[in-house]
Amino acid sequence: MTAIATLGSHCSLQVLKGAKDEGLKTMLVCEKKREKLYRRFPFIDELIIVDSFKEVLDQKCQKTLEENNAVLIPHGTLIAQMSSEEIESIKTPVFGNKWILRWESDREMKEKLMREATLPMPKPVTEPKHIEKLVIVKRQGAAGGKGYFMAANEDDYNTKRNQLISEGILSKDETLYIQEYAAGVLAYLQFFYSPLTNELEFFGVDQRHESDIEGLGRIPAEQQMKSTKVPSFNVIGNSPLVLRESLLDEVYTMGENFVEAAKRVVSPGMNGPFCIEGVYDENAKFTSFEFSARIVAGTNIYMDGSPYYSLLFNENMSMGKRIAREIKTATESNQLDKITT
Ligand code: AMP
Repeated sequence: MTAIATLGSHCSLQVLKGAKDEGLKTMLVCEKKREKLYRRFPFIDELIIVDSFKEVLDQKCQKTLEENNAVLIPHGTLIAQMSSEEIESIKTPVFGNKWILRWESDREMKEKLMREATLPMPKPVTEPKHIEKLVIVKRQGAAGGKGYFMAANEDDYNTKRNQLISEGILSKDETLYIQEYAAGVLAYLQFFYSPLTNELEFFGVDQRHESDIEGLGRIPAEQQMKSTKVPSFNVIGNSPLVLRESLLDEVYTMGENFVEAAKRVVSPGMNGPFCIEGVYDENAKFTSFEFSARIVAGTNIYMDGSPYYSLLFNENMSMGKRIAREIKTATESNQLDKITT
């Protein structure tokens, strides 16, 4: 029997519940400090207790996973806490394409893949002196928006960067990525691509709630002007969104373009769940500032199934369950190689 394993964080509850519903064994790599939390959930069959998630790279942990024929489901925590080299060195089969995770973590590679997929992107700004419009300044990797800031010009950029360095949030030698700020309605488009059926499924949309940029919007302009704090974009939670139906066709096209581009650029392509993240402007034109090449935590809002999956499946289907279904189908038809790396 195949087991499903993941790191105890991000969307692990949803992933393991979905796996259990599909009749698969569930394993959680769990940090000691979170053991009490995860013991509350009876659908987790086995906890592998570690001091740090990096232990997933150790032989001992990998042996346990191997003995259980485990498939590891990567999520944001894996990317945030491990380097691309470390992820690529994992011996346990990783669901989807572990090679594409490097393209998510590295800003330049990310931009390249998004261009290849012809996603409309905000203009990147190569140097602070070239800032002409409002920009957002980002850190490398899946930092979750922490330490990001907005700047209106070069002086503003330097003041805020220095302030964040003095507060210990940024380090002096950190390479920052500058991009024009795109205003509009945030939409994080969640997809699943199956190399077994060669079909792209649109799963749902979420919005992220980020602190304390959202908090700033709740106070009057007078107090905003007096605030000396640099607002950050630290994700706190997610909420659901449904799109105007007239936007769906373009959503599928963007997803398909992304899948095709990934096939060309990073074999075996964008298999499994992914997310295209951006904003709709006043003309309902989408600008994408980011993608995630694996399950996003925003799918947690649809643990009982999403509006769009209820159109495709006559049962409650979460993203976790969809992943488990894919693994089950592939195992039964001897195609596990096709959906793991
Ligand atoms: P990211 O790490 O790129 O997902 O960015 C974190 C958050 O910053 C996003 O969820 C958005 O709220 C915001 N953001 C990032 N890039 C842009 C952009 N170019 N324009 C507007 N908001 C952005």
